Amino acid sequence: MLKPGSNNKKLGFKITSKRWEGKRLYSLTLEERKTCPTTCHHWNDCYGDNMPFAHRFTTAGLIPKLKEEIDSLMNKHPDGIVIRLHVLGDFYSEDYVRFWEEMLFVHPKLCLFGYTSRKGDNIAHAIWLLNIRFDQRCVIRCSDNKEAGKPHGNSQEPFVQDWKYAAEESFEGNSFDCPEQTGKVKSCAACGLCWTTKKTVRFLSH
Ligand code: SF4
Repeated sequence: MLKPGSNNKKLGFKITSKRWEGKRLYSLTLEERKTCPTTCHHWNDCYGDNMPFAHRFTTAGLIPKLKEEIDSLMNKHPDGIVIRLHVLGDFYSEDYVRFWEEMLFVHPKLCLFGYTSRKGDNIAHAIWLLNIRFDQRCVIRCSDNKEAGKPHGNSQEPFVQDWKYAAEESFEGNSFDCPEQTGKVKSCAACGLCWTTKKTVRFLSH
């Protein structure tokens, strides 16, 4: 289920950027829409609509299989691995977020990065806590921008500023454009800005 970043031109495999240098990058793809909040602003024009051949994994039996794969990859790569969550799909339950928390706890050389459209629900709150608890090893950005001014969690999550953001091309606030999309770096493995800077990343429309 965890695909090496070498299968995905944008991701790359061996991380050369700072902080997580030397780790190997893998990705996980879930079923879009089935795992996503219906409030996602790309519900009607999901990136996955143009990816008919992407290998999506269902949530049935997902967690035990992921545990096995992570154990095996941690043995294979002594410097550890980074998992990009999720090429398609999203965090679908609080238990699923807690599974990642357990993995980060059990594997000190495991890192996570990615994006979520969860907002204002218990799943968003659990992701927010995951980012806070493992702030050096887990960066899940909110697919939105801070200036949108919406609270990104429930009343237990008052600190909107603690989220990092991933905005769309139309966003005109303080941000930087993804350097892979503008041809300045080859891949996420060589860039790493999503997990090393607090600044909002802006993505060109797909
Ligand atoms: S900013 Fe860097 S790490 Fe983030 S998606 Fe673009 S290339 Fe990847």
